[in-house]
Amino acid sequence: MNWEPWTGCYPASDGCTYCYFYGLYAKRYGQNTIQKTDKFDWPVRTNKKGEYNIKGDKILATCFATDFFLPEADEWRIEAWQMIKKRPDIDFLILTKRIDRFLVSLPNDWGNGYNNVNIGCTVENQKLADSRLPLFLSYPIKRRFVACSPLLESIDLSPYLSGIDHVTVSGESGREARECDYDWVLPIREQCIAADVTFWFKSTGSLFKKDGILQKVNPFQQVNLAKELDISILDGKKLF
Ligand code: SF4
Repeated sequence: MNWEPWTGCYPASDGCTYCYFYGLYAKRYGQNTIQKTDKFDWPVRTNKKGEYNIKGDKILATCFATDFFLPEADEWRIEAWQMIKKRPDIDFLILTKRIDRFLVSLPNDWGNGYNNVNIGCTVENQKLADSRLPLFLSYPIKRRFVACSPLLESIDLSPYLSGIDHVTVSGESGREARECDYDWVLPIREQCIAADVTFWFKSTGSLFKKDGILQKVNPFQQVNLAKELDISILDGKKLF
């Protein structure tokens, strides 16, 4: 289930170039407006009986079609944090390409982090891993995950995996997608095994190379194909 309290975004790094929503060839590129959505208060909205519309014990992917840490959302985020705090029975998954804005975006009572917040830091290549992950690890966060999404080259995450709960890998989707080589994916899996971190190969992306053979993968098959390869290691832990 997703919660998109605001909409609109613009590129922040290498993985954004062909963003499905706002990238170079997306319909909304350069013409999207960053604004609140009509679902802004969704986690705390109630029905006539006064019960929450969203029942508890859920995972809510938050701002997966924008970025929670956009500077344009600074004012709205104050209220978003209050809603997140009000729903300790929901796990909020916040994935960002703007982890450098984390500290300036926190509520006053954040302390060592809210228990129900998972922060995900995206790293698409080694340069971004080396710049973002040391910052990410230095911040007060209770639960951290890394998303290599889209994976654009081989990455060595091993210096950074202590303190990370989970790693997700996906290839890039879309007509302009860059290739994702299975030979980049497998070493990340090995790094996760060595560090005892759960690993999820979520999607092959549109252009997938395996055993040196490049294939175009239909959008509806990308998740299935990654699943069929059966290399994810989730150990029965909650998938996020
Ligand atoms: S941060 Fe995410 S939503 Fe924003 S442009 Fe980049 S990929 Fe798209």
